[in-house]
Amino acid sequence: MLKKIRKFDRKTLLKYLRATGKRQAELFELARQIKEEVFGQRIWFRGIIEFSNICRNDCYYCGIRRSNAKQMRFQMSLKEIDDCLKFIKSADYGSVVFQSGELTTRTFKNQLLEIVKLTHKKYPNLGITVSCGEQDFAYLKKLKAAGASRYLLRIETSSRKLYKKLHPREMSWRKRFECLKNLQKLSYQVGTGVMVGLPGQTIEDLISDLKFFVDNKFDMFGIGPYVIHKDTPLGRDPKIQKWWQKNKEKNFSIFLNFLAILRVLLPNVNIAAATACDVFDPLGRIKVLRIAGNVIMPSVTPKDYRDKYLLYENKPNIDEGADKSFEHISNKIIQAGLKPIFGEQGNSPFYYQRIYG
Ligand code: SF4
Repeated sequence: MLKKIRKFDRKTLLKYLRATGKRQAELFELARQIKEEVFGQRIWFRGIIEFSNICRNDCYYCGIRRSNAKQMRFQMSLKEIDDCLKFIKSADYGSVVFQSGELTTRTFKNQLLEIVKLTHKKYPNLGITVSCGEQDFAYLKKLKAAGASRYLLRIETSSRKLYKKLHPREMSWRKRFECLKNLQKLSYQVGTGVMVGLPGQTIEDLISDLKFFVDNKFDMFGIGPYVIHKDTPLGRDPKIQKWWQKNKEKNFSIFLNFLAILRVLLPNVNIAAATACDVFDPLGRIKVLRIAGNVIMPSVTPKDYRDKYLLYENKPNIDEGADKSFEHISNKIIQAGLKPIFGEQGNSPFYYQRIYG
């Protein structure tokens, strides 16, 4: 199985992407063994601060898209961000992730630069990840110099055809890909990902996504199952609503298979367990961490803002604060026989291999 998966044998990949029962258990076991050979049972923590839900884009699946007039907007102040950082330090998370909608205004760029600079100055040992959409080369260079070492930009799908169906005309797959390449040129640890279970997505598309990940040498992955949001063009379509409800269990199972195959293909990349997994199963993230994931990103966003950062519906844990999110997920991790790691950045071993050979 291992050789055939690594050779990209399409028949084998189809078989395992659709696997259930005994075959799925075999795949999960293989992925778990491969993951543990590299990372043991260790799970690294990154505190995620969703500091603004203002976005210039209009992706057809996203709850904070600019056309969603029902969405109240917010931007956290530096003081509020600093309070989140204090929590991150007290909880001894080794890294922080700054995430927001995409903006390219001078004001936004200056604010983000300031946030990264202050964080790096105050907490020099904290790993800093930025996830704020497509930005130009010169600006990404400044962010890196200010202290950001990782950047997360999901391509969402490797299929240009499907990308076009999910995004308005002004958004370009090619530009997004170029931004990922620029991040690599700047020696960031580069993370990307797709959504699994999108309307119109085929199993062949998922195989192409896996091939895309391997060919382009990404260091880390944030991959989520697609979750519908009612205030979006996709979520408003009654056919899609019906289709999503009917297929959600099957799609989540394919999602888990996809991550297990990714771990088999790329043993030493970082794979995060997305919060969206818990929409399907209260132990969704734990399932991912058991078979493929080695990174968890508990929310540190203050309670008052959590219900305003809904990229999808039924987002879990929006009524709890950073302390509860920390307590819940670390307890679940320990109960699952895994080992939470604090005080370490948990950089991607694949990155060091890519950069230093
Ligand atoms: S997916 Fe990202 S870029 Fe698209 S609308 Fe949502 S926040 Fe903006």
